[in-house]
Amino acid sequence: MSGRMGRWVMIGAVIAVGIAFVMGAANTRAGGSCCSGTKDKAKSAASAGCGETLKKEPDNCLKDPEKVNRCDSEWKAELTPEQYRIMREKGTEPAFSGDLLQNKREGTYVCAACGQPLFDSGTKYDSGSGWPSFYAPLEDGNVAEHADDSHGMKRTEVLCSRCDAHLGHVFNDGPEPTGQRYCINSASLDFKEKGGPEDK
Ligand code: FE
Repeated sequence: MSGRMGRWVMIGAVIAVGIAFVMGAANTRAGGSCCSGTKDKAKSAASAGCGETLKKEPDNCLKDPEKVNRCDSEWKAELTPEQYRIMREKGTEPAFSGDLLQNKREGTYVCAACGQPLFDSGTKYDSGSGWPSFYAPLEDGNVAEHADDSHGMKRTEVLCSRCDAHLGHVFNDGPEPTGQRYCINSASLDFKEKGGPEDK
């Protein structure tokens, strides 16, 4: 091998090592950002195929330490197919089909995904819409609202502020004292009855 060829081989080897290092670092960063920051959660996410999901759809892994962080594969394992469709894919249950539509017991409606308290039974009313309706959230900070221009309509989407689950929409045709109608999918809610075993 001539001296000139040797130099080219050396330069090629250095470039190859450099590319391998950069790609490895990028993969490490992507894996580290998946799901929650704890080692247990990361291990759980990896076993659920989270790394694979992250590579394809990085935005589907929440990274906010203040929130309940899950990847798509974990939500699919935790929720029913109907709940996943509604809460993670912004679907809607058929009108008049929800288990909690006619529920008149006293208690608290919580997020079916993360358990965050969302609505008090005292604010529930019969809107005639076919979906559980409330005139106010339990706490303003417990629900998030986003503009939703999908399906050719201008609406305001309502989400759980802790896990970003889609809950439904809010409209300005509700009763006093707020004039608001929180139109919520029953599948997005669990009910904790007042004085019941889960009431704390
Ligand atoms: Fe939630």
